[in-house]
This record gives sequence, C-alpha cells and structure tokens, in this order.
Amino acid sequence: PVSSESDASSQLLNAPSSGVDSWWSETSINAEKKEIKAWCTDQNGEWVLGKIVSNTGEDVILSLPKGKVVKVHRDTLLRANPDILNGVDDLMQLSYLNEPSVLYNLQYRYSQNFIYTKSGPVLIAINPYKKVNLYGSEYIKAYRKRSTNNPHVYALTDTAMREMIRDEISQSIIISGESGSGKTETAKVAMQYLVALGGGSGIEYEILQSNPILEAFGNAKTSRNDNSSRFGKLIEIHFSATGRISGARIQTFLLEKSRVVQCSDGERSYHVFYQLCAGAPFSLREKLNLKNVDEYEYLKQSKCFQISGVNDGESFQEVMKALDAVHISREDQEKVFAMLSTVLWMGNISFTSIDNEDHVEATIDEGVHTVARLMGCNIEVLKLALSTRKMEVRKEQIVKKLTLSQAIDTRDALAKSIYVSLFEWLVEQINKSLTVGKKRTGRYISILDIYGFEYFQKNTFEQFCINYANERLQQHFNRHLFKLEQEEYIQDGIAWEKMDFDDNQDCLNLFEKKPLGLLSLLDEESTFPNATDLSFASKLKKHLCSNPCFKGERERNFIVSHYAGEVMYDTFGFLEKNRDVLSMDSIHLLSSCSSELPQAFAAKLISQSENSISSLAGDSQKMSATSKFKDQLFQLIQRLESTTPHFIRCIKPNKLQLPDIYEQAFILQQLKCCGVLEVGRISRSGYPTRMHHQKFAKRYGFLLLESIASQDPLTVSVAILRQFNIHPEMYHVGYTKLFFRMGQIGALEDTRNRT
Ligand code: ATP
Ligand code: MG
Repeated sequence: PVSSESDASSQLLNAPSSGVDSWWSETSINAEKKEIKAWCTDQNGEWVLGKIVSNTGEDVILSLPKGKVVKVHRDTLLRANPDILNGVDDLMQLSYLNEPSVLYNLQYRYSQNFIYTKSGPVLIAINPYKKVNLYGSEYIKAYRKRSTNNPHVYALTDTAMREMIRDEISQSIIISGESGSGKTETAKVAMQYLVALGGGSGIEYEILQSNPILEAFGNAKTSRNDNSSRFGKLIEIHFSATGRISGARIQTFLLEKSRVVQCSDGERSYHVFYQLCAGAPFSLREKLNLKNVDEYEYLKQSKCFQISGVNDGESFQEVMKALDAVHISREDQEKVFAMLSTVLWMGNISFTSIDNEDHVEATIDEGVHTVARLMGCNIEVLKLALSTRKMEVRKEQIVKKLTLSQAIDTRDALAKSIYVSLFEWLVEQINKSLTVGKKRTGRYISILDIYGFEYFQKNTFEQFCINYANERLQQHFNRHLFKLEQEEYIQDGIAWEKMDFDDNQDCLNLFEKKPLGLLSLLDEESTFPNATDLSFASKLKKHLCSNPCFKGERERNFIVSHYAGEVMYDTFGFLEKNRDVLSMDSIHLLSSCSSELPQAFAAKLISQSENSISSLAGDSQKMSATSKFKDQLFQLIQRLESTTPHFIRCIKPNKLQLPDIYEQAFILQQLKCCGVLEVGRISRSGYPTRMHHQKFAKRYGFLLLESIASQDPLTVSVAILRQFNIHPEMYHVGYTKLFFRMGQIGALEDTRNRT
C-alpha cells in the first residue's frame, strides 16, 4: 500500500538527476509491460508528452504525438502521471509533482472551464477571460451544503466562515497575482458568498455597492488590464453573534497618483473622468463646464478614450446609484464631480512668459476661471499659487517666481493632491456608511486585493513600492505555510530535514535596515534640497553593495533580487515622489477656498503634516511617501497576523487578455512567483494530518479489540496504530501529537463510522 505515496515523495518537483534515477530503475524493468509516459522538451522549450518505447543505456526512444519518434538522453526526461490522474482537483494528488505535470494538469482542467484547482492549502484561480457558469445562487447553495467538492472561491470562503465561528478567530482571504490575473473579480466572488450567507441586515447591499465606486475612482485601463486597480484594498466584513453581517471597513493603499496627470500611450486615466464626461446630465455639464474628453490635456496625451465593450455613460449612472447606496447625498455627489472637473480643467491651465529669466505666470483663460469658480477661490490667489513660491531665507519671507517647468510641476502636484484627497474622502464616507453596528462580535473576514509583483522594461518608484509590499506579503505567506509547518514538527520532537525554501529575509533587510537600507537612504536623501536622482543612486551603490540582493547598475539604475526575480529600477523621480510635498502655498490656496471639499482636504493635509514629526530632520515635516506606505504595510501585516489566512493565487493565462489561450512559460513563471510549487513540495513530503494523543485515543480507542492495561493516551494510540497495521513510514509520534502522511486517517475514519 506504500506505493504511490512513497515514490511520490522521492520524486518531488524537478529533482535533479538523482531523482530521475530513482524512477528510472523501475522504468527499465517495466517499460515493456507498463505504458510509461514522460515529458521531454521540444525545440521551442515547451513540454511534450511522450511514451517510452525503449530504453537501452543512457538513451531513450520516445514516441510523441503525430507519429513522431525521438531519441533523447534519459536525464532530460521527467516522469508523467498516469492518465487516471488527469485533471485531479488538487495538485497534491499527483504522483509526480514536476513542472510539466503541474502545468498539464492545470491546462487539462482549464480547457474544460475548471478554472479553480487546489495546491494543498492554496487555491489557484486561472482567469477564464470569458463568462463561466460557476457562480450564482445555485452554486452558493451547493457549496453551503457541501454537496460539491470542486475547488472554488465559494468553498474557500465557506471554510473561512466555518473556521471563524468554530475557532472564534477572524479570518483573512489573501488574493494575489499579477495585473489582470483576476484578483478584483475573485474578491467580488468571495464577497458575493459572504453576503449571501450573512445577508439580511441590508448593509450587504451597501458593501457590494462600494465596489463600483472604488473601481470608478481607483481603476484605469492599462496595457495589461482594461480594468486595472491602481490601489491596494483590504475590506473587513464584520459579523454578529448570529452570523449576520454587522458592517464593514475598507482600507486602501497607495493610489497611483501620477496617473491623474500623465499616462502612457494606449492607457487611460481613472475611469470616473471618462464616465463623468460621457454620462453627466445637461444641467451638471453646464454647472461644471464639462467638455468632451478629447478637450482635456490630461486625458488627451495617451490618445485613448474608449475601452472596447465599455459604455462610460452607462457606468456613470451605476456609479451615481452606488453613491446613493452608501448614503452620499446628491449635494455631496455634485461636490465630488466639481472636484473632478477642477482636476481636468487644471490640466488645461497654461502659462505665459513674463520676463527674460524664464519666469511665467498662469494665463487667465477659461481654465483658470473654471478652476477658481469650482474651488471657490480668488483668481489672483490661484494665479499666484501657481506661479510663485513663498520661501523663508534667513528668517525672512521672500517670494520666488517660478519657471515654466516649476509652474507645471506645482499645478500637477495640486491636481494630484486634490484627486488623492478626494479618493480618501470617498473611502471615509463609505466607511461611515458601512460602520460596524452595535451587535458586533469583533470577528471579521477580511479580503485583501493587492497588486502583485510587477516588472517592466522600465521600473520606477511605483514598482519599487509595490514589489516591496509583495516581499512582505510573501514572507507572511512563507511564514504561515513553511515556517510554522516546520516549527510544529520540530517542536514536537520530530526529525525534519530542513526544507530549503526561498526565505526572503535578505531582501527585506535590503529595504528595511536602518540606517543603511533602501528606504532609510531614500528618506535621508529626500531631506537634502540639492540631492538628485543620480546622487541617490550613487549613495545606494556606496552603501548597499554588500547585500546579496543588491546590484548597482549604470547611472541612475540599480537591481534588486526579489523572491520572484531580478528587477532593475530607475531612480528617476524617486526623490520627488518620496518627498510628496505639496507646497505650503498650495495648501493655503485650498484652505482659502469657499467650497467645502477643498477646505476639508487642506485641513487633512495640515493635520497630517503636524502629526508626523520626521525623526530624521527633527523638525516638523511631512512624512515621506515610503514611510507612510511602510507604516500602512506594517499595520496590515500585523492585522493579518491576528487572523487565520486563506490564500488565493490568481494566474493570468496569456498576455492578450483572451479566453482559451494557455501560455505555458508565462504561467509557469507566475506559479514560481507565488510559491505554489513550493507549497506542494512541503505538504507532500510532510505529514499533513495531525492529532493530539488524547484526541486520537479518545476518537479511536473504542475500536481496540484487545483491552490494554494502560489508559495513557500515547500507549492507547500506539496500540491502535498497530492494530490497524499503519505502516511506520506513514506516521510519526511527536511529544504531543501524532503526524500522518496524507490519506492515512481515512481508513480509521471509515471503520469508526461503520462501527
Ligand atoms: P489588476 O492588478 O490590474 O487590478 P486584477 O488581478 O484585479 O488586475 P481583474 O480586474 O480582476 O484583474 O481581472 C481582469 C479581467 O479578467 C476582468 O475585467 C474580467 O474581464 C476578467 N476576469 C477575471 N476573473 C474572471 C472570472 N472569474 N470570470 C470571468 N472573467 C474574469
Ligand atoms: Mg484589480
């Protein structure tokens, strides 16, 4: 009975040739009798499945599809699984867990629209890029009753629900994957399930309606995803003692603000701008002086206004409906739209040269007029705020005129700041509406939808922050699945060959070490007014080269070895984005406004700068963007640590955003990035089932045929194991627990249930 499990654990992943040898000897004996299949690579590097025809010595003759026959060296082959295992719903059931077998199994399922597959404790979801018939109330009912075992987001969410109630511990569903892999859709599927189970109070409708609002204001078309979330999101759904939803809380992370003022060809700014321009009723158009999207400089530059299959005008109606649902009054909605129009018109403000020293001032035209009217500020004050800067030199205030590029930067910084403030204001309003009611238990299920690891041709500040966050989350994942696992064996006195897994502590140190880490050095350099991106880059090279995860590169570039691969960053714009300062003049401009929102934004900006005393400079200074982000991230991890995590890894099947195309290499890369293959390795060679001696003795003790003298749980347990002939390789006796290999408890449970 040891067969498939023991050879499985000796043939883990793509073990080097020693692993191949172990099944090889068996093959040479059996090749003629049994039909043995193996994977070889074709000229394109893709895996192809073949049948072994003969093997003499080192060479193997393999028959491939379409009557092709090849002779290959045996060390280049990987063993394939028997046909009976085709399409198993948990990768852990595969006898051979090598890369081609995993890829093939996922593909086999994907081609039949089974987009979900388990890999031990992790759920893999492959984006179908088409409607699949897997959702809705019938499915929800089936998963609720557990009348189906097919892996599904519903099943995982159901487990989270049950564990929350059983263990009285909050749960988290952590969704990751690269842009376009389906995180946001998956999060919505999970929410759908929670709402179906815990609904009834009415608050669930509001919770669901927060989605279209956040997507309108925080999502945009990028080259990788027509509906790409440009912020991270954690939503906590709280439950009452009776299992009803009692409220929710949303936290957002690092909205990409540069997109408001600039985006690349073929991409768009935030959806809501296009929706407003397309969908606003006539009276609102008049009031806000709205134009067509192609008349705004901020929107024009990327030469992309439409998304195929999307009607922005209709979406606008949905957004208004959603704003109603979360109790944002029509009056407040109009204020929100006025701020959007302000941002758009700000981009149209131009500057006129006023002297021979390149100094400029804002041209008084429709742009300035509209912005001043919508914000409720004085035209002259606006003009001054955009064309001059007050500075303190030796305790005296002087007014400096701005050059064209300085004036444009000032204008864009103001536009970005207004947009981000508006986004944060909206999240606050939504949270007020979703406030957790009085009947709370303190238990919640949180769903994290956060940008996955990113690497492009050119990687800048945004990728730097995103990838740093992913290092932290990866460590959280590792810690749970690997470290805790190993520690448990070791604590219970079981010899455990330390499994090699990619611990990313070196990389985290590179980011976080003080004073010589990427973040500290960036903050330090940001406090020097004369520092440049280049001086920052050389500083990094001077101090960090001893870290194995760091490599200096030419000029402004440096390389970080992330757990998911090497990424080269360009320091261009790092300092400015990190300083993230809105000049005092701009803040004063906002507080001078008669409109409510600009005033509220100013108040918040001022309180932020007062509340955060920079530890570096010692004087009152706004917190840098990265330290703010790091703070948020630490709080997030801390919150997640107090929950039981459930992981979903989303996979993008191809770069074209099309259905039914399965790109092997691209998918394999993602499987590696998210540690799914490693999970398999540890769960398989480990002992996934475990039980305390007492519990085991109590549960199965009555099955003993011969009575034994001692009532000691351990003695009883061992007697049970003997009686049932459980192979010694299949279990371990720890100090407090018994550990079993996969599938061992099954026979005992069957007997118990029959008795
Ligand atoms: P980003 O990181 O850019 O925000 P994401 O991982 O959140 O990306 P989604 O926006 O969830 O990706 O998915 C991208 C697109 O893929 C969706 O707009 C939808 O068209 C399609 N998609 C994702 N999941 C599903 C699904 N389960 N069924 C059908 N289509 C899906
Ligand atoms: Mg998303």
